Amino acid sequence: DVLVAGETLIDFVPERAGSLEDVPGFERRPGGAPANVAVALVRLEEPPLFWTRVGDDPFGRYLERTLADYGIPDRFVERDSGAKTTLAFVTHDEIGDREFTFYRDGTADTRLEPGRIDDATLADCEWVHAGGVTLSSGSAREATLDLLERAAAADCTVSSDPNLRPELWPDEGTVASVVGDALAHVDVCLATVSELEALGFEGESATALARAAVEVGAVHTAFVTRGSEGAVAVAGADAPWPAATVEHPGFAVEAVDTTGAGDAFVAGAITALRDGDDLENAVAFANAVGARATTGRGGMTALPTRDEVAALLEG
Ligand code: ADP
Repeated sequence: DVLVAGETLIDFVPERAGSLEDVPGFERRPGGAPANVAVALVRLEEPPLFWTRVGDDPFGRYLERTLADYGIPDRFVERDSGAKTTLAFVTHDEIGDREFTFYRDGTADTRLEPGRIDDATLADCEWVHAGGVTLSSGSAREATLDLLERAAAADCTVSSDPNLRPELWPDEGTVASVVGDALAHVDVCLATVSELEALGFEGESATALARAAVEVGAVHTAFVTRGSEGAVAVAGADAPWPAATVEHPGFAVEAVDTTGAGDAFVAGAITALRDGDDLENAVAFANAVGARATTGRGGMTALPTRDEVAALLEG
C-alpha cells in the first residue's frame, strides 16, 4: 500500500482578483496538498490509505463525503469532536499571484496525534508520503515526525513535499529546523526552488539545488518542480533506483488553473517509481500528470486518469 498523511481543508477561491474585503464571493473547494495527492493517486489507479483529520462541522462532513466519493478509504480519516475544520481563503491579484489567509488555530488537522498508524499498518506499506504543512503546528508536528521515523524504520520509502507556506510558519529558522528534522527520515523530497532555498540548500539552478540536497545526504532522491518549465531530479548512489540526474522541460499545455499541479506531480512520481520506472521516465510521467492537471479548473476536480496522462506522454 501507499499511505498519505496530512491536512484536508477547504479552500475558498475568489470569483475575481481583489482583496478579501473587496471580492464579491468565493467558491468552496476541497483541498489540502496531501488530500490532493491522495485523490491523484486514486485517479492513477494506486488508491492509497489516507491519514487526516477533519472537524465536527458541516465542512468536515463535506470533506469526508468528498474523499469517500473519490474512493479514499475512511479507515484513517478522523473526525475530531473537539475542533473545527481548517479553512483557507485565497485571493489573487490581476496577474494571478495568490495569497492565503488561514483559519487554522487549533483546527482539526493540527491535532493529529502520534501513534495512530500502528506498526502492522506500516509493515504493509511500501511507501509513505507526508505533506509539510502538518509540521507547522500543534500535536500534528509530533505525529508527523513520529510517522516518518517509524515508516523509515519499517523500511517504507518515505517521501515528503515541504509545501512551505510562509503564512503558517512563525519564522524561517523554525522552518529549517522542523522540516530539517523531518527530512532526516525522508528518502525522496519533492519541492520547488524557493522551498529548497528556504530549507537552507544552496545552488545556482534547480539541478544544483537538487544535487545539494542529495550530496549532504538529506535525501537520496530530490525532485525540483519548475512550473511550466517542467522539473529536474537527482538520485544518489544509495537510491533504490539507478543514480541519475534528469532535466525534463515539461509539457506545453493550455493551462487554465495550476492549483494542485505540484500535488499531481507528487502522485505521478510515486506511481512511476513504484511501477519500477527509472528516474528519467518518472520525471516525464510526473510532469505529464502535473501538466494535465493544469488544463482543468480546481485542484481535485482536474486530476487526470492514467489514460489522459498516457495521451499527453504519447503526444
Ligand atoms: P506547485 O504547484 O507546487 O507550485 P509547480 O508550479 O512547479 O509546483 O508545478 C508542478 C508541476 O506541474 C511542474 O513541475 C509541471 O510538471 C506541472 N506544471 C505546472 N504548471 C504548468 C504549466 N503551466 N504548464 C505545464 N506544466 C505545468
